[in-house]
Amino acid sequence: MRDYEKLSKLARDSGFTHCAPLDVSKLEFLQEVRDMCNAGQCDRYGRSWSCPPACASLEEMREHVRGYSCGLLVQTVGDIEDNYDWDGIMAAGARHKANFGRMWDALERGCSTVFAMGAGACKLCESCTYPDAPCRFPDRMSASMEACGLLVSKVCTDNNLKYNYGPSKIAFTSCFLFKEC
Ligand code: SF4
Repeated sequence: MRDYEKLSKLARDSGFTHCAPLDVSKLEFLQEVRDMCNAGQCDRYGRSWSCPPACASLEEMREHVRGYSCGLLVQTVGDIEDNYDWDGIMAAGARHKANFGRMWDALERGCSTVFAMGAGACKLCESCTYPDAPCRFPDRMSASMEACGLLVSKVCTDNNLKYNYGPSKIAFTSCFLFKEC
Protein backbone atom coordinates (compact mmCIF):
# COMPACT_ATOMS: atom_id res chain seq x y z
CA MET A 1 0.00 0.00 0.00
CA ARG A 2 1.00 3.68 -0.27
CA ASP A 3 4.11 4.25 1.73
CA TYR A 4 2.87 2.29 4.73
CA GLU A 5 5.97 3.08 6.77
CA LYS A 6 5.36 6.82 6.46
CA LEU A 7 1.67 6.47 7.27
CA SER A 8 2.45 4.25 10.21
CA LYS A 9 4.91 6.83 11.57
CA LEU A 10 2.32 9.58 11.06
CA ALA A 11 -0.21 7.48 12.99
CA ARG A 12 2.22 7.00 15.89
CA ASP A 13 3.19 10.69 15.84
CA SER A 14 -0.52 11.57 15.93
CA GLY A 15 -0.87 9.58 19.16
CA PHE A 16 -2.41 6.29 18.02
CA THR A 17 -1.26 3.16 19.79
CA HIS A 18 -1.77 0.74 16.85
CA CYS A 19 -2.35 0.81 13.12
CA ALA A 20 -2.60 -1.68 10.25
CA PRO A 21 -2.99 -1.63 6.46
CA LEU A 22 -6.65 -1.82 5.47
CA ASP A 23 -7.82 -3.85 2.47
CA VAL A 24 -10.63 -1.72 1.04
CA SER A 25 -12.00 -4.65 -0.99
CA LYS A 26 -12.89 -6.43 2.28
CA LEU A 27 -15.13 -3.63 3.61
CA GLU A 28 -18.75 -4.71 3.99
CA PHE A 29 -21.43 -2.08 4.62
CA LEU A 30 -24.13 -3.87 6.62
CA GLN A 31 -27.73 -2.93 7.31
CA GLU A 32 -27.64 -4.71 10.70
CA VAL A 33 -24.88 -2.33 11.86
CA ARG A 34 -26.93 0.65 10.70
CA ASP A 35 -29.90 -0.75 12.59
CA MET A 36 -27.90 -0.67 15.84
CA CYS A 37 -27.71 3.15 15.54
CA ASN A 38 -31.47 3.25 15.97
CA ALA A 39 -31.74 0.61 18.69
CA GLY A 40 -32.15 3.21 21.44
CA GLN A 41 -28.59 3.05 22.76
CA CYS A 42 -27.04 5.99 20.90
CA ASP A 43 -28.20 9.52 21.60
CA ARG A 44 -26.75 10.81 18.30
CA TYR A 45 -29.26 8.98 16.07
CA GLY A 46 -31.26 11.61 14.20
CA ARG A 47 -29.26 14.43 15.80
CA SER A 48 -26.24 14.88 13.53
CA TRP A 49 -25.51 15.17 9.82
CA SER A 50 -22.83 12.52 10.42
CA CYS A 51 -25.28 9.89 11.71
CA PRO A 52 -28.25 7.94 10.35
CA PRO A 53 -30.68 8.76 8.95
CA ALA A 54 -28.88 11.87 7.59
CA CYS A 55 -25.57 10.32 6.53
CA ALA A 56 -24.95 8.54 3.23
CA SER A 57 -26.97 5.41 2.50
CA LEU A 58 -25.26 2.01 2.42
CA GLU A 59 -25.50 2.00 -1.37
CA GLU A 60 -23.92 5.46 -1.54
CA MET A 61 -21.14 4.29 0.78
CA ARG A 62 -20.44 1.21 -1.37
CA GLU A 63 -20.31 3.41 -4.46
CA HIS A 64 -18.14 6.03 -2.76
CA VAL A 65 -15.42 3.66 -1.54
CA ARG A 66 -15.04 2.17 -5.02
CA GLY A 67 -12.86 5.18 -5.75
CA TYR A 68 -10.38 4.29 -2.98
CA SER A 69 -7.76 1.64 -3.41
CA CYS A 70 -6.07 1.29 -0.02
CA GLY A 71 -6.39 2.35 3.57
CA LEU A 72 -5.08 2.45 7.11
CA LEU A 73 -6.78 1.36 10.33
CA VAL A 74 -5.80 3.43 13.37
CA GLN A 75 -6.46 2.61 16.99
CA THR A 76 -6.17 4.20 20.42
CA VAL A 77 -6.10 1.71 23.29
CA GLY A 78 -6.68 3.07 26.79
CA ASP A 79 -6.66 1.64 30.33
CA ILE A 80 -9.92 1.21 32.23
CA GLU A 81 -10.74 -0.27 35.64
CA ASP A 82 -13.67 -2.30 34.28
CA ASN A 83 -16.52 -2.05 31.75
CA TYR A 84 -18.29 0.46 34.01
CA ASP A 85 -15.32 2.85 34.19
CA TRP A 86 -17.16 5.56 32.25
CA ASP A 87 -14.54 8.22 32.98
CA GLY A 88 -11.76 5.98 31.65
CA ILE A 89 -13.78 5.10 28.54
CA MET A 90 -14.60 8.76 27.87
CA ALA A 91 -10.95 9.79 28.36
CA ALA A 92 -9.71 7.17 25.89
CA GLY A 93 -12.44 8.20 23.42
CA ALA A 94 -11.44 11.86 23.70
CA ARG A 95 -7.78 10.95 23.12
CA HIS A 96 -8.76 8.95 20.06
CA LYS A 97 -10.79 11.83 18.63
CA ALA A 98 -7.85 14.20 19.13
CA ASN A 99 -5.46 11.69 17.48
CA PHE A 100 -7.89 11.28 14.58
CA GLY A 101 -8.16 15.06 14.07
CA ARG A 102 -4.36 15.47 14.19
CA MET A 103 -3.74 12.76 11.62
CA TRP A 104 -6.52 13.90 9.31
CA ASP A 105 -5.24 17.49 9.42
CA ALA A 106 -1.75 16.21 8.58
CA LEU A 107 -3.18 14.25 5.64
CA GLU A 108 -4.99 17.44 4.58
CA ARG A 109 -8.51 17.33 5.89
CA GLY A 110 -11.07 18.08 3.17
CA CYS A 111 -8.83 16.73 0.40
CA SER A 112 -10.86 14.44 -1.91
CA THR A 113 -8.12 11.81 -2.16
CA VAL A 114 -8.51 10.89 1.54
CA PHE A 115 -11.73 9.54 3.04
CA ALA A 116 -11.88 9.35 6.83
CA MET A 117 -14.29 7.35 8.97
CA GLY A 118 -14.04 8.03 12.70
CA ALA A 119 -15.35 6.71 15.99
CA GLY A 120 -18.49 8.41 17.24
CA ALA A 121 -20.47 11.26 15.78
CA CYS A 122 -18.85 14.37 14.27
CA LYS A 123 -18.03 16.88 16.99
CA LEU A 124 -16.49 19.64 14.88
CA CYS A 125 -19.13 22.11 16.02
CA GLU A 126 -20.22 22.63 19.59
CA SER A 127 -23.76 22.03 18.39
CA CYS A 128 -24.67 20.25 15.14
CA THR A 129 -26.95 22.20 12.78
CA TYR A 130 -29.00 19.07 12.00
CA PRO A 131 -31.80 19.22 10.91
CA ASP A 132 -32.44 22.97 10.80
CA ALA A 133 -29.59 24.10 8.54
CA PRO A 134 -27.00 22.51 6.24
CA CYS A 135 -23.81 21.08 7.72
CA ARG A 136 -21.32 23.90 8.35
CA PHE A 137 -18.29 21.93 7.12
CA PRO A 138 -19.41 19.16 4.72
CA ASP A 139 -15.83 18.57 3.53
CA ARG A 140 -14.43 18.37 7.05
CA MET A 141 -17.10 16.42 8.90
CA SER A 142 -16.69 12.69 9.54
CA ALA A 143 -19.12 9.86 10.11
CA SER A 144 -18.20 6.94 12.34
CA MET A 145 -17.30 3.56 10.86
CA GLU A 146 -20.48 2.18 12.46
CA ALA A 147 -22.67 4.95 11.01
CA CYS A 148 -21.26 4.00 7.61
CA GLY A 149 -22.39 0.40 8.23
CA LEU A 150 -19.05 -1.21 9.15
CA LEU A 151 -18.80 -3.78 11.93
CA VAL A 152 -15.57 -2.54 13.48
CA SER A 153 -14.60 -5.83 15.16
CA LYS A 154 -14.91 -7.62 11.80
CA VAL A 155 -12.95 -4.93 9.94
CA CYS A 156 -10.16 -5.33 12.51
CA THR A 157 -10.19 -9.13 12.28
CA ASP A 158 -10.27 -9.04 8.47
CA ASN A 159 -7.20 -6.82 8.51
CA ASN A 160 -5.18 -8.58 11.22
CA LEU A 161 -5.60 -5.86 13.84
CA LYS A 162 -6.55 -6.87 17.37
CA TYR A 163 -9.91 -5.53 18.56
CA ASN A 164 -10.23 -6.88 22.10
CA TYR A 165 -7.29 -6.14 24.41
CA GLY A 166 -8.80 -7.66 27.54
CA PRO A 167 -11.00 -6.47 30.44
CA SER A 168 -8.74 -3.60 31.55
CA LYS A 169 -8.41 -2.03 28.10
CA ILE A 170 -10.69 -0.16 25.73
CA ALA A 171 -9.96 0.26 22.02
CA PHE A 172 -11.28 2.97 19.70
CA THR A 173 -10.81 2.41 15.97
CA SER A 174 -11.03 4.67 12.91
CA CYS A 175 -9.73 4.49 9.37
CA PHE A 176 -8.46 6.50 6.45
CA LEU A 177 -8.95 5.43 2.83
CA PHE A 178 -6.70 6.67 0.02
CA LYS A 179 -7.26 7.04 -3.71
CA GLU A 180 -3.60 6.59 -4.54
CA CYS A 181 -1.59 3.73 -3.15
S1 SF4 B 1 -19.42 19.77 10.90
FE1 SF4 B 1 -20.79 20.63 12.43
S2 SF4 B 1 -22.78 20.75 11.36
FE2 SF4 B 1 -21.49 19.32 10.19
S3 SF4 B 1 -21.95 17.27 11.01
FE3 SF4 B 1 -20.18 18.06 12.16
S4 SF4 B 1 -21.07 18.98 13.98
FE4 SF4 B 1 -22.74 18.79 12.47
